[in-house]
Amino acid sequence: QQTKILVSACLMGFKVRYNGSEKAALQATLERWQQEKRLVVHCPELAAGLPVPRRPAEIVAGSGADVMRDTARIVEDNGQDVTAHYQLAAWLALQAAQQSGCHAALLTDGSPTCGSQFIYNGTFSATRQPGMGVAAALLEQHGIRVFSEQQLPALIAWVNEREAER
Ligand code: SF4
Repeated sequence: QQTKILVSACLMGFKVRYNGSEKAALQATLERWQQEKRLVVHCPELAAGLPVPRRPAEIVAGSGADVMRDTARIVEDNGQDVTAHYQLAAWLALQAAQQSGCHAALLTDGSPTCGSQFIYNGTFSATRQPGMGVAAALLEQHGIRVFSEQQLPALIAWVNEREAER
């Protein structure tokens, strides 16, 4: 059975930022995976009913896991508390991944939902901090391996290794 991968919708179009020749190879792999129907393209925030465009939102004083435990909040840049919307977004991402049998996820870094290596620190000053967004944290908690778009080579290696073991 092929490994299926949940992919942040905003990464499709393959605008992953890589340099030169590596980019073409990575893009070719993503295109092949898409043809092989391995990719489940999903935007948790849209699934949760958030509008486009929407205000920027950041996790305040905590991580995505804290938000899911209700010990941190997510607010928009005007101070509006949108925690419940983002918690729903996370659960919908997990549901999409589980229903389609995904074992991994390739998610857009920096987002309060999809971020996996870094998020912003809640001050709306473009200040990064290490940490995961709500969906990334929930997926990891349920055994789904999360990779950022910068880690696409690692995801490709992980998929190849997993399938070689079979
Ligand atoms: Fe949707 Fe934001 Fe995740 Fe992109 S990073 S898929 S826009 S929730």
